[in-house]
Amino acid sequence: MDTGSDSAVWSVDGSKCKKFSSQQIFNAIRRTSPQKSWAPLVWHKASIPRHSNTTWLFILNRNPTFDRLISWNIDIDPACLLCGDGEESRNHLFFECSFSLVVWRSLLHRFHLSSVPSRWADILLWLPNAHPDSMVRLAILQVWQAAIYELWKERNRRVHDGLTLPPIRIMRYISSSLRDKCSALLSLSHPLGPRLAQFWFDPP
Ligand SMILES: [Zn+2]
Repeated sequence: MDTGSDSAVWSVDGSKCKKFSSQQIFNAIRRTSPQKSWAPLVWHKASIPRHSNTTWLFILNRNPTFDRLISWNIDIDPACLLCGDGEESRNHLFFECSFSLVVWRSLLHRFHLSSVPSRWADILLWLPNAHPDSMVRLAILQVWQAAIYELWKERNRRVHDGLTLPPIRIMRYISSSLRDKCSALLSLSHPLGPRLAQFWFDPP
């Protein structure tokens, strides 16, 4: 008859362990989700939180654009309030819409790009390699997010307040917010500050 005392044996991922290791257990049970391919487009070192958050929600297509409201059986006119020509959806707003496209292309003019996509899916594919210079790519990401934020804000202004601003005013808001971000980086002596200042303080 075996009179030996019982002892606990830990088995992690099929291997027996001499003692309990919380780190081994944690590593075994945690679910590591692969990084979304769009994550670097949303969160980067020069991002503005309100711009990133709005962009993130549009990537997930969670904002209440008219096409989504209609899909929830809400009876509204689907016409885009920015251009009045086309039905509002995320893909229309950024930047198939003629109003939005003026803002998008005008802001990117300073980078002397040979071509600029206007369709949502094409832009997501283009952004990671939009320019060989990483600082230009970062500035383009800033423009993209700022344009999404300010154009959505303008759309909401038209829905809720009945106020209408022209593209040039939207572009000024965008430039102003990017200069403010640059100033904040400069005041923190962040190395990106002077490198981004070439775009936002001394436009060609
Ligand atoms: Zn439109």
